[in-house]
Amino acid sequence: MNNFVVAIDGPAGSGKSSVSKEVAKRLGFTHIDTGAMYRAVTLYALRLGIDLDDENAYSFINDLSIIYKEGKTFLNGEDVSKEIRSQEVTNHASQPARINAVRDRMVYFQRESLKIGKVIMDGRDIGTVVAPNADLKVFLTASAEVRAERRCKENELKGIESNYDVILKEIIERDRKDSTRKIAPLKQANDAILVDTTNLSIEEVINKIIDLINERLGK
Ligand code: C5P
Repeated sequence: MNNFVVAIDGPAGSGKSSVSKEVAKRLGFTHIDTGAMYRAVTLYALRLGIDLDDENAYSFINDLSIIYKEGKTFLNGEDVSKEIRSQEVTNHASQPARINAVRDRMVYFQRESLKIGKVIMDGRDIGTVVAPNADLKVFLTASAEVRAERRCKENELKGIESNYDVILKEIIERDRKDSTRKIAPLKQANDAILVDTTNLSIEEVINKIIDLINERLGK
């Protein structure tokens, strides 16, 4: 098997990235976190100080280089992996994601990285737009409350102070923006398998996805 694409989509905090990263590690796949790419554009736009909602302000997009490699995100060669996780970038990330030119450029980068071979790509529109012919599509969900709790715990582990009510509000707002936007909204592909992780541990979700991949591979 030289080429096998797994598309993992779902809302903010559904565990897509952590699960995808671990499944990739265990099976020898390459993991691509497409949210990190949109975050890198957001960081660049915030640094420029442009109006994030003005689609004419993104003329820089075709000259921008964004590479996601081995868990790190590079913006024009600069490692921005830490900076793109800041609260400011998180709160603004769904604005550039609504701009046509931004999505076109990101989809171009993402499709290029699907050529690597065995890839697990996570995001919002992987099964619907980026890789409609993926070998396996999974849509991960969990209640907003559980997702907010998970974010708080993650922050605690990183030593970042967080407030559950504020995080819950942000998650609900990001879900709303991501699922109501005109282009490539967050949506389950018709042929995606829905996995509700509300009552599952991360290990259970990882094993479930590994089972699904093995099933598709006929193992
Ligand atoms: O997954 P993450 O929370 O890091 O994504 C940040 C933002 O990037 C999301 O809120 C969404 O607006 C956008 N995004 C997207 N399409 C993707 C991945 C992320 O629109 N495939």
